[in-house]
Amino acid sequence: MITGYFTHPDCQQHDMGAGHPESPQRLRAINELLEAGGLLHDLQAIHPAPAEKADLSMAHSASSIQLVHDRSPITGIVSLDADTSMNAHSLDAALLAAGAGLAATKAVLEGKINNAFCAVRPPGHHAEHDLPMGFCLFNNIAIAALYALQQDNIERVAILDFDVHHGNGTVDIFANDPRVLVCSSYQHPHYPMRHHDTLAEHLIHCPLEAGSGSREFRHAIEQHWLPALQSHKPDMIFVSAGFDAHRLDPLANLNLVEADYAWVTELIMDQGRSHAQGRLVSMLEGGYHLQALAASVEQHIKTLRGL
Ligand SMILES: [Zn+2]
Repeated sequence: MITGYFTHPDCQQHDMGAGHPESPQRLRAINELLEAGGLLHDLQAIHPAPAEKADLSMAHSASSIQLVHDRSPITGIVSLDADTSMNAHSLDAALLAAGAGLAATKAVLEGKINNAFCAVRPPGHHAEHDLPMGFCLFNNIAIAALYALQQDNIERVAILDFDVHHGNGTVDIFANDPRVLVCSSYQHPHYPMRHHDTLAEHLIHCPLEAGSGSREFRHAIEQHWLPALQSHKPDMIFVSAGFDAHRLDPLANLNLVEADYAWVTELIMDQGRSHAQGRLVSMLEGGYHLQALAASVEQHIKTLRGL
């Protein structure tokens, strides 16, 4: 299997201030572990081009795109909400993060690689059609999925989100688009408490109580995601890969371990082989314990590589 590794050094320039958990150290920790373990040399490393405004507008309102551009500071840090800030490099990083999803999707659709992992930040799944929020400026995975749906051979896709926080932005963007099956597992009640109650046949919400671990997670995926995927038969699969449901993560209270991420990745790949010719693009969302994040990403990518 050829797995593309889409990342850009400028994604590490986005910095929301000392002590913010969504820090540049996250990508550094991932890259260092992949390098130390030798996995980085097995991957096709690609630096994406930034997304254009036209790409962003597939998923976002003009006013929301303009807001992010207008608030971009020349120096210092400006806040968009209590959790989300921008420094002088944040806009560039966000455009590269969205661009990574587009480049990865294009490379998979052209058959240049089998699948891809995008090690990018800022993350995207909280960004709604009309609102950047929750560490997210643009919804990277939604933009990638909408790009795929423009291709003749892609009629239906699935977005699978195992970040510990509910992907409210993704649900918001696709609430009225049944071409996109959105499956999520998340701690509940917990941040962000938006759109988890938006109901439709193509929106599969799997809330997990604080303290839930491997058994509850795997049960929810098998009971709810699997039949939905088998019925939807996506032509391509997208993964909002957040690793903050790990037992060591400081921002939430689920108890997953690295092996759970390998397990869910294998299950997703199996569905990809059955319905989507293996076409799969995974993008980094959350994950705030540096060692747990890096080790979980390593398991995720090893599984994508078929190792
Ligand atoms: Zn999260």
